[in-house]
Amino acid sequence: MSNEILKNYINGKWVESKANNFRDVINPANGEIIAKTPMGTREDAEEAISAAKEAFWRWRTTPAQSRIRYIFELRDAFEENFDELAEICTLEHGKTLDESRGEYRRTIESIELAASIPSLQMGFNFEDVAMGIDEMVVKQPLGVFFSVAPFNFPAMVPAWFWPLAIATGNTYIIKPSDQCPITMVKQFEIIDEIDFPKGIINLVHGGAEVVNTLIESPDTVGFSFVGSSKIGNLLYRKAGEFGKRVQVQGGAKNFITVMPDADLDRTIPNLITSFYGNTGQRCLAGGVLLAVGEVYEPLKERLLEAAKKIQVGDGLDDNTQMGPLASNAGLKSVLQFIDKGIEEGATLILDGRNISLDDKLSKGYFMGPSIFDDVTSDMTIAQEEIFGPVIPIIRVASLEEAIEIINKSRYGNASSIFTSSGKNARDYQYKVNAGNIGINIGVAAPIASFPFSGMKDSFKGDLHGQGKSGVDFFTEDKVVITRWF
Ligand code: NAD
Repeated sequence: MSNEILKNYINGKWVESKANNFRDVINPANGEIIAKTPMGTREDAEEAISAAKEAFWRWRTTPAQSRIRYIFELRDAFEENFDELAEICTLEHGKTLDESRGEYRRTIESIELAASIPSLQMGFNFEDVAMGIDEMVVKQPLGVFFSVAPFNFPAMVPAWFWPLAIATGNTYIIKPSDQCPITMVKQFEIIDEIDFPKGIINLVHGGAEVVNTLIESPDTVGFSFVGSSKIGNLLYRKAGEFGKRVQVQGGAKNFITVMPDADLDRTIPNLITSFYGNTGQRCLAGGVLLAVGEVYEPLKERLLEAAKKIQVGDGLDDNTQMGPLASNAGLKSVLQFIDKGIEEGATLILDGRNISLDDKLSKGYFMGPSIFDDVTSDMTIAQEEIFGPVIPIIRVASLEEAIEIINKSRYGNASSIFTSSGKNARDYQYKVNAGNIGINIGVAAPIASFPFSGMKDSFKGDLHGQGKSGVDFFTEDKVVITRWF
């Protein structure tokens, strides 16, 4: 990949954007510019809308079994290019190769789920609702949908949506993150190679101008947004104004509770993955650690010991356990949270600032694992999403106190408890207001056949992504009542 300007993929062809502004795509491990994202225009978005609109009836009337054959073909092509796809994801994002491979495993799972749609119930029928009258419900596709994606999972997040959308007969436009767009360009190269029918899936690069055009167009039906709550809430209001179906998956602050009866040998590795996996840039990452009662001291000591051993480096090096932050802005923002934590009175017991690394990584956006002790629930680092490798520890007296703190948060994406008591676990899942609950699981990530839930400022809309809710989002139930004379 050179310093090239990325192209859009519309109606089965690579086309140049009309953009005059460009954003550098940077390898965060060494600061090198590897491509330029065109910050697309209204015209670019309109071109994609008209291609997807034009393709809709052709695709909608293609028998489901034939649609699925194309999707299977795409799945196989992704499998064949698995290692190369993962490498490109690491190159532009910074995450480790293992993390990119994991991301692509989930991406392919989403495609596999979509391939099973014809065998999922797409409608139901009753005979003789009254004598001689039959009634049925059919699920019909609606038209052109699109997604607006974040930088942190550039392959997997769009795949929560587009496979289900096209399997159910809609056409689609993907607007990838302008920070990490190459992952999606690579996927479209594969789509192009296998001669996927034209206009069904389209790619448009850009930012607000493209997204606003897609929302305002009378020819789009709805969209899935994943990103910060700030932008998500803005677009949710705009969706209401333009009457669009919408699912908005926003930011998060995920509380992880460790009880005195937790098995620490197995809990510690889970916590390390939860807080430091993907360098903390995960909407399901641990955000605050709640240590209940006497587990506090041993938990803190063992966590500190494990965190110090993490190998930080270039994600492309197989020995690396934690890569850089994905951007300089991301790194600066995490460092500001660290300053804020110190200013508000927390104690930085593991300081990941200024870690020493190989010379060739000196321009990368690296920091090491960090841990804050003496944190209280009113501090900024306990309330705001840090999106970096930082663990704030709060000491609490009881499970009830932990649940009270969690439920005061403005976010409700995920929360986990580590315990060996069924009663504690049951109380937790029953009372905690978060959409994804982990019991002895540090990253409560639902597989493709389950909804990716979320509550409060972490989700706006009615139907979640993935699973049956995903199918409902992309279809409308039509009731047909029949009597033949
Ligand atoms: P972001 O909100 O900055 O950007 C998300 C998308 O919105 C990008 O495609 C961007 O180009 C677009 N965008 C930015 N400004 C816009 C505007 N004014 N109008 C229209 N579109 C605009 O988010 P990010 O920094 O890329 O991603 C990180 C955030 O995503 C974190 O908060 C994280 O928690 C969240 N996230 C949530 C989930 C989830 O499932 N809830 C999953 C992954 C990431």
